[in-house]
Amino acid sequence: MEITLAILKPSAVERCLIGEIISRIQRKGLVISGMKMMQLDEKILREHYAHLVDKPFFPSIVKSMTASPVVVMAIRGVEAVRVFREMTGVTNGRNAAPGTLRGDFCMSGQANIVHASDTVENAKTEVDRFFRPDEIFDWLPADVDYYYGPDELDN
Ligand code: ADP
Repeated sequence: MEITLAILKPSAVERCLIGEIISRIQRKGLVISGMKMMQLDEKILREHYAHLVDKPFFPSIVKSMTASPVVVMAIRGVEAVRVFREMTGVTNGRNAAPGTLRGDFCMSGQANIVHASDTVENAKTEVDRFFRPDEIFDWLPADVDYYYGPDELDN
């Protein structure tokens, strides 16, 4: 199974959407392996958004991502990185498909409620960035045999 990072951004926390988002993640059959609320700062955002640090809108990203605590989640499943990325939808909520988190819950390209890791490699780095090893729990729900066929769970 893969593990991926979700951040429920201030635009989700401030709008009291976290329960709705967590519910959708669980109803899909993705497993929550770690979850906590934390206050981000510019230092961690410079690492997390290293590919955007030189963009003129980076200060605005820092402002919006530090406006309130966020909820960080490590979520596990077969092909979890791709599955959760597709559940999240494209960056701009106005262009995101209905049925995706961004498509259903936001109107913004910046205040787009959720971060989802984009590759398996980045997911590993990002989970390690936000969680200590002892904050990740290697458990599966009691009814996991109903989430997958017998030969799928080994992936
Ligand atoms: P994604 O979050 O879909 O992987 P990016 O990695 O390109 O997208 O961007 C990271 C985050 O930076 C976006 O989710 C969004 O909050 C913010 N962002 C991206 N592009 C812009 C922009 N042009 N103006 C303001 N904020 C942006």
